[in-house]
Amino acid sequence: MPGATSLELIEKLVAFDTTSRNTNLDLISFVQGYLAHLGITSSRIHNETGSKANLYATIGPENVSGVLLSGHTDVVPVDGQDWHTDPFQIVKKENKIFGRGTSDMKSFIGITLATIPKFIGKTLKVPLHLAFSYDEEVGCLGVRSLIDFVNDLPVKPIMAIIGEPTSMEVVTGHKGKRSYVGQVEGYEAHSSLAPLGVNAVEYAAEFIAFLKTMARNIEKDGPFDPLYDVQHSTLHVGTIRGGTALNIVPKVCTFDFEFRYIGDEDPDQIETQFMAYASEKIEPKMKAVSESSKFNIKRVNDVPGLDISPDHEAVSFVKRLAKRNDYKKVAFGTEAGLYQHRGEIPAVICGPGSIEQAHKPNEFITLDQIHLAENFFLRLMDNICEN
Ligand SMILES: [Zn+2]
Repeated sequence: MPGATSLELIEKLVAFDTTSRNTNLDLISFVQGYLAHLGITSSRIHNETGSKANLYATIGPENVSGVLLSGHTDVVPVDGQDWHTDPFQIVKKENKIFGRGTSDMKSFIGITLATIPKFIGKTLKVPLHLAFSYDEEVGCLGVRSLIDFVNDLPVKPIMAIIGEPTSMEVVTGHKGKRSYVGQVEGYEAHSSLAPLGVNAVEYAAEFIAFLKTMARNIEKDGPFDPLYDVQHSTLHVGTIRGGTALNIVPKVCTFDFEFRYIGDEDPDQIETQFMAYASEKIEPKMKAVSESSKFNIKRVNDVPGLDISPDHEAVSFVKRLAKRNDYKKVAFGTEAGLYQHRGEIPAVICGPGSIEQAHKPNEFITLDQIHLAENFFLRLMDNICEN
């Protein structure tokens, strides 16, 4: 559908139910077909089973570093949410467009695609790269192979603009996050013989109390970053399961925890601290009673934070495009940190729609936001095209 408006493309993209548990291949095929009509070839980078894919395309010269536009194609589930309209069919009411992904973040992709035909026939001084990923909402999983693909190209992009919903404000930072599962294996005994058993729940509690002490120290001593609502790194335990009955010394306890860290924090140092506590302070006490007992901590995800200097050229460039002088940091995570750390590509977040609407029932974007983003892309075109 070349010549389609932003709104028509947003409608088309929202209609693909790309909830992260589903395939995104229909959407990817549509985008590939759309680009092919314009004479633009694109590459797919599939997941292991071939059920999902990232898409990468370059418009303009291939021997020069260009500007990468990054978006994720998946959306969060609508299950159990009170939607007043079909989430996968956009509905326009006054100046709002309702539908899953309208803010997070199919409008950015739709507006990007609607702008591409305007570049055709122009001479681009630097290329534009499109990088659309899968599985962002379940731990930024897909974009990793996309970044590796980009890293292997002869010429790497000079910068990346991540179009997550910031209401078109310029965002220079978000916290990094590491998440873990703790698996404690004790030794069962009758509760009347408690000292002969290894109580998995109690050892987990001892570790969790240590995490809480670490969290309190960080809250007191920093480091701090005043650009965040919560100005320091945080540690948090989300779930705990263990034990079978009051009169049995519990054999198993598992729990999930995470920490979110600011740019001045060294995540390895935090991790080393609690790992050492588990292996040096807790596990030996368990093993003294039963050699078979274990205290395991497994890292399950690692999404680096974004922290780019406000003086960086990439930030100045995005400020010009957004016509703003201010910048901020946000609480939510994005793929930007992976571009910065894994790809060593300077990244800035700026996109239409509000994070307030994201992940909620009756998600919407306002027409104003769509217009702001359209103008952003027109200024991008003026900046990178010769005529
Ligand atoms: Zn998003």
